[in-house]
Amino acid sequence: MTSRLRVDITNKAKVGVLGATGMVGQMYIKLLENHPWFEVSYIAASPRSSGMKYADAVEGRWHMQTRIPTDVRQLIVEDANAVDKSLGKCDFVFSALELDKQATRDLENKYAQNEIPVVSNSSAHRWTDDVPVLIPEVNFDHLEMISTQRAHHGWKKGFVVVKPNCSIQSYLLPIHALEKAGFPIGRVLVTTLQALSGAGYPGPSSFDMVDNVLPYIGGEEEKSEKEPLKILGKIEKGKFAYCDSMKISAHCNRVPVLDGHTACVSIEFKDKKPSKEQTIRTWREFSSLPQELKLPLAPTQPIIYRDEEDRPQPRIDRDSDKGMAVTVGRLRDCNVLDFRFVGLSHNTIRGAAGGGILNAELLKAKGYL
Ligand code: NAP
Repeated sequence: MTSRLRVDITNKAKVGVLGATGMVGQMYIKLLENHPWFEVSYIAASPRSSGMKYADAVEGRWHMQTRIPTDVRQLIVEDANAVDKSLGKCDFVFSALELDKQATRDLENKYAQNEIPVVSNSSAHRWTDDVPVLIPEVNFDHLEMISTQRAHHGWKKGFVVVKPNCSIQSYLLPIHALEKAGFPIGRVLVTTLQALSGAGYPGPSSFDMVDNVLPYIGGEEEKSEKEPLKILGKIEKGKFAYCDSMKISAHCNRVPVLDGHTACVSIEFKDKKPSKEQTIRTWREFSSLPQELKLPLAPTQPIIYRDEEDRPQPRIDRDSDKGMAVTVGRLRDCNVLDFRFVGLSHNTIRGAAGGGILNAELLKAKGYL
């Protein structure tokens, strides 16, 4: 794999953040401060926040540990539904809206139709036939679907690209690394322990969560089982052919952790089974196009394997490499399938805003933005 990076960093791209006042939107505002290629020039949220200065709109609900970036404090929040307000103000938008799915699809299409590309965090478009669900280290080749999508709609510059559900990267990166190394996997059992911030703010009440685990997150198990099959699929004759050689069974739980989704995983190889040493080496040596292109937010080592028997842990490991690395540990034999391990990733960084920014960096590096 050889690639050359051609990005004009003398002129930063102007970006909009839809849903800028929410949990994921705030993380976008934080991560985009001093970004070498992008600058926030447009922010939008619900009609409840529109017309307010950003600092006023998030007063009492700014959840980041850093202060609100100076450049963004004074920006006026627009109504995200009024697409015309964004025209001429941004080159593309990150979408972090919490809306009804059909309303989200319609709105994201409207931005694309107005030739404003959309890099989305919402699940609304993940099952749309011509929309790639992107993890840059795994399926960067799915970007070729953008030309098909543009042709379907008659869009010239506009398009919609989405990122997957926030817990998937904790187990799909380690699985993909093994498959890429020549060890295909046929069956996966995964139990996720998902942080409170994954539900947005304010999320479940403290009365429901303190001293408790919620064994149900609506729609999450279906996403955890099916989205990987689109991501691991191929494009054949202009259509996604989903991976049909892997079966995933998921249990998804909400736990009283602020940030960081943990996944306890058992895997069964289809034919060849690597040794544990080979498996750990494969994870540690895994590298892909974002690393080769040295994209600004790409983790140097996408999968960090920890040898300690009690790692990974959300509080200690979620911020590894800017919150973009997946930390894996506890590789051991499984009495039912072949191996067991624990994976962890930061849900609002790698699993949401950071993952969205990495998608945009790849799109920029490949000339789509
Ligand atoms: P959130 O904290 O509830 O924020 C929702 C955002 O949407 C706010 O900016 C809100 O604006 C805006 N909004 C709500 N109703 C609207 C309307 N009718 N019109 C326009 N804007 C509206 O949610 P979140 O956790 O940030 O999640 C945002 C999206 O990212 C969701 O689609 C979610 O599924 C996805 N996601 C979340 C995570 C995570 O870890 N949290 C991870 C991956 C993906 P106001 O402040 O004005 O109400």
